[in-house]
Amino acid sequence: MGHVFPRHTKSKLPTAVAGDGCYIFDQNGKRYLDACCGAAVSCLGHSDQIVQEAIKSQTDKLSFAHSGFFTSEPAEALADLLIANAPEGIDRVYFVSGGSEAVEAALKLARQYHLERGDDQRSHVIARWQSYHGNTIGALSAGGNKWRREPFMPMLVPMSHIDPCYPYRDQYEGESDEAYGLRAANRLEAEILKIGAESVSAFICEPVVGATMGAVAAAPGYLKRIREICDQYGVLLILDEVMCGMGRTGTLFACEHDEVAPDIVCIAKGLGAGYQPIGAMLCSKGIYSAIENGSGFFQHGHTYQAHPMACAAGLAVLTSMLERDLITNVRHRSEQLMNALTDTFGQHPHVGDIRGRGLFIALELVKDRDTKEPFDPALVIHARIKKAAFELGLMCYPMPGTIDGKNGDHILLAPPFIIEDQHIDEIVDKLSQSFSMLD
Ligand code: PLP
Repeated sequence: MGHVFPRHTKSKLPTAVAGDGCYIFDQNGKRYLDACCGAAVSCLGHSDQIVQEAIKSQTDKLSFAHSGFFTSEPAEALADLLIANAPEGIDRVYFVSGGSEAVEAALKLARQYHLERGDDQRSHVIARWQSYHGNTIGALSAGGNKWRREPFMPMLVPMSHIDPCYPYRDQYEGESDEAYGLRAANRLEAEILKIGAESVSAFICEPVVGATMGAVAAAPGYLKRIREICDQYGVLLILDEVMCGMGRTGTLFACEHDEVAPDIVCIAKGLGAGYQPIGAMLCSKGIYSAIENGSGFFQHGHTYQAHPMACAAGLAVLTSMLERDLITNVRHRSEQLMNALTDTFGQHPHVGDIRGRGLFIALELVKDRDTKEPFDPALVIHARIKKAAFELGLMCYPMPGTIDGKNGDHILLAPPFIIEDQHIDEIVDKLSQSFSMLD
């Protein structure tokens, strides 16, 4: 024991030995309510029999067949089911092993799409500040979290970043939601014109921002205007739904809420629900046709892409989610959780905002509710709350405020879609105890 290279080298983590429904158990039998699905992953909880059986049955048939030689039954079936439920125009699925890989594939596919059409000028990517798209070099370059980017700045690919849509701190007093959505979206047009439309390949954003800002949904009309701008300037729209997709916000794809269809959409996390590592990049028929009718080869690939075991798990997760209508449950439980959080923390002097969509809800913590001044980052409030909650047996996802003070520490909740009344009570009760350090 002791040779695993952990994320945090200075703290000793308990060993997870079992999972049951919404709970994880450690080596001492202590149980933890998983109120964040790790990082918005375990949407079916930790002991889904249907998924476990599907994995076992796939092992008996076939564990691995390299995608350079074969397709597989679970990959074909999962792709069909995804496309049957995907936003309009989305027609093909490229399976990978996780979210960062899906984003890398999307950025490269966008570039190759332009090349295949004889447009070799378009390579520039526009993204947004306070976003997260993964930790590999391309995805980190697109990401707008300055703290994550800083150590690797000399290695990052040049991309531009616009300010995000962030009503709590960015909307003017008296400005309507629609007017704000439009104003925020028009930043994309300004950036395209600054760069020169002929050089811009794609714009990437999260429809509901997860890790860096904490469950911030786009203002009404924001994504529709973004879609219009992309169409006007020949820029591809990539939506990163790695965290907010797969039912998390109360629709299978988060962008359904905004009635916008992307050119490319990235999913992961809830796709395998933690039972297997799997992600996917889905693209429109037009993009696929450009490759099919051009070089016939997407110049990308990973050894484990479209892994049959991972696809079998993903197929069982999605089938189970749809057959049990769990997404309706997400909407129902969301309202209940939001009400309970508002009752308990709505007037809390250090809770500036409670926001989110579906079972994707965050509390932004501030030093001063009136001025919205964030806590001093040196206080690491988010980490201390995570620790206090974990000691009480509650898992919640903490994020520090941005290093430029553009948003405060926050706590993200993303519980399994199977949560019940008693879990909601336990989340609110334990979070409330953990917040007592702020008094
Ligand atoms: N994109 C978003 C929006 C994410 O939230 C994440 C992970 O949190 C990623 C991409 C990267 O996914 P992964 O950690 O599976 O590589």
